[in-house]
Amino acid sequence: MRVGGARMPNVRQRKKKLKPASARRKSRRLASLAPRSANSRRHPTTAAAEIARTRAEAEAAIADARKSHERLREAIELLPQGIVFLDAEGRYTLWNKQYAEIYSRSADLFAPGARLEDTLRIGVERGDYPQAAGREEEWIAERLAKMYQPGARHEQTLSDGRVILIEERLTGDGGVVGLRVDITELKQREASFRLLFDGNPVPMIVCALDGGRILAVNDAAVEHYGYGRTEFETRTISGLQAFDSDPPWATDRPGDEQAARTWKHVRADGSLIDLAIYSRELIYDEKPAVLLALMDITERKRAEARIAFLAQHDDLTGLPNRNLLRQQMDDILAHARRSSDKVAVLVLGLDNFKAVNDSLGHSVGDKLLRAVAKRLRSTLREDDALARLNSDEFAMIQGGLTRPEDAVLMSRRLLEAIGDPFLLDGHSVVVGVTIGIAMAPGDGDDSEMLLKNADMALSRAKNDCRGTFSFFEAAMDARAQTRRKIETELRDAVRDERLQPYYQPLIDLSAGRITGFEALVRWPHPQRGMVSPGEFIPVAEETGLINAVGGLMLRRACKDAATWPDEVRVAVNLSPLQFRTGNLLSIVMDALKQSGLSAKRLELEITETLLLEKSSQVLATLHALRALGVRISMDDFGTGYSSLSYLRSFPFDKIKIDQSFVRDLGANREAQAIIRSIVSLGKGLGVTITAEGVETEAELSCLRAEGCHEGQGFLFSRARPNEEIVELLRAQRGADEPDTVKARVA
Ligand code: C2E
Ligand code: MG
Ligand code: MG
Repeated sequence: MRVGGARMPNVRQRKKKLKPASARRKSRRLASLAPRSANSRRHPTTAAAEIARTRAEAEAAIADARKSHERLREAIELLPQGIVFLDAEGRYTLWNKQYAEIYSRSADLFAPGARLEDTLRIGVERGDYPQAAGREEEWIAERLAKMYQPGARHEQTLSDGRVILIEERLTGDGGVVGLRVDITELKQREASFRLLFDGNPVPMIVCALDGGRILAVNDAAVEHYGYGRTEFETRTISGLQAFDSDPPWATDRPGDEQAARTWKHVRADGSLIDLAIYSRELIYDEKPAVLLALMDITERKRAEARIAFLAQHDDLTGLPNRNLLRQQMDDILAHARRSSDKVAVLVLGLDNFKAVNDSLGHSVGDKLLRAVAKRLRSTLREDDALARLNSDEFAMIQGGLTRPEDAVLMSRRLLEAIGDPFLLDGHSVVVGVTIGIAMAPGDGDDSEMLLKNADMALSRAKNDCRGTFSFFEAAMDARAQTRRKIETELRDAVRDERLQPYYQPLIDLSAGRITGFEALVRWPHPQRGMVSPGEFIPVAEETGLINAVGGLMLRRACKDAATWPDEVRVAVNLSPLQFRTGNLLSIVMDALKQSGLSAKRLELEITETLLLEKSSQVLATLHALRALGVRISMDDFGTGYSSLSYLRSFPFDKIKIDQSFVRDLGANREAQAIIRSIVSLGKGLGVTITAEGVETEAELSCLRAEGCHEGQGFLFSRARPNEEIVELLRAQRGADEPDTVKARVA
């Protein structure tokens, strides 16, 4: 293999330039000499003079020739290559310093008239030519033959490892002119290249610049492609390509490495691979060629494609996610603007998803979502877009509508499709769907606004009547704005600690005594009076303000309770979100420490939703709180899902029966049966049972009859500020009689 072009000077041209100048002068002089010699015989006196002149002329000619010879010598000394002139008998006539340097080991033998064959033979005997070893005479004969029948250039290796390139030509007089170039460095570069090429772990191919025929491949290429070396070398680079395209080096930017494009090649087994190809032009076997380094990026491309897909799709259902949906919506909206069509944006919320997930497990929940996605997909028209927005919400975009009624028809179809039971792992699962609809133009110009408004319509439909659809109305937006206003005002109120606890007593129904108070947050609003927590707790939970609200309530309640008699407890409500921050335990401990309240006087009320996720972290926090001595109550019992399993997952100290069961207790036998069973459950578990929302004497007497331990409700007292509580407790101390309490607080 030859890399790079070592160009020999054109010997013939140089020779032509040198020879005619001296030759012309010499023949002119010899011509003028001849006739004059003939004349000198006829006139003896002039003959002597002529002889003298002739001699002078001859000497001048000799001097001239010597000068020419000198000039020639000087000229050849300027050449970077070694040069040697031999006569027809192969004797040295002229050589330059570079020639003597190349053959420095034989330089002592060079002398005008010495025969090259002799110096060669001496050199061979001395071992100057390793190529001759073992076949000395043969080698000398070959060498001389090459010299007298000059053809292609050839290389000669010397004993010191140098490599000499030899080019020879016959001269007009049968002699030889020879050029010598030391190409050792070039050969070393070639050898390094060979090593790099052959042993490179990256598949490499050399192909002809013109036509792309494959000239050489390395071992890695043979292994990677599976073609044999000879099979490879019958192909062109485009023959490897899976599709017709320009060769990899055909680029607008001529020259070096380029890997801007990727290529698809076919391997021997027919499989396709993606490649980044780096190319570099070079001379290979004295012809223009290209070296290609082939980086297999099949895996990388596959991973990139997967990542790109995941970035725009929901992993579980394979549906587009919100990002991709927005892009698709932008296209649909742009098209609608041009055609004056209407676009319907439907946001769908599954109705019972959490219950299914909770009761049948996450794997059934996942299967349900996939099955829902499949049904939704089957209702799609070609130009519609469908996406999963979050856990149980999907969106569908329909373009090309003429009237909102089209969206109604679509919604009905969807309600029906999702309403049919799903058969999952042997369970027949029924989930409903509720749909919010926003229309463009009208309900918004961009995807963001339309999705937001459809979502608002969905919330409204969920509140009003699940399993139906609802169109967005401007009034919903007004409601949403009110909500935003609450958020900003609440933020200020929390910051300024304007929220305060009101306390509602809990009464021991057998003794008729106040056992404790539930702290209920109140927001005294400058314009709206006392705002109830039902209005702002959901906003606080949505915005994360709940942690500040909860912390404030804990500190205040503990501080107030520390001033009450020792046997009176305080109950504080906790939002499930307060468990997510991870520092609830230390917040409770701080509140107790700062107030000096004993832990056993603090009750924390949690709801069943906290236990929905069955999180080990939640249970660990609850156990840690209980270990402090704090009592844990289950609030609003009976309103969540599968309440009994929660009773097993944690040893509650108290169960508070939701007021919906207490309502109509006097008139409703079912309610009475439920209360009875909860009370007996509580007795069995050794847990206090408290009835919430006791409003009437009838309810109270019924609860007493069933053996319910505790009651709380307007019949006894509404929630009151701490100052009034202190009064109430003083009164209880003074007249230790249950009816007094009832009478005084009612
Ligand atoms: P809850 O914990 O079940 O509190 C009982 C709610 O029932 C209180 O409403 C109380 O005023 C009301 N109530 C008590 N007796 C009667 C009655 O005889 N009849 C009727 N109709 N209602 C009665 P409130 O104060 O509006 O609180 C509502 C909910 O707000 C609470 O329900 C609780 O879940 C939440 N909440 C209140 N304060 C806080 C708090 O500081 N933190 C957290 N996270 N939630 C709180
Ligand atoms: Mg409560
Ligand atoms: Mg409650």
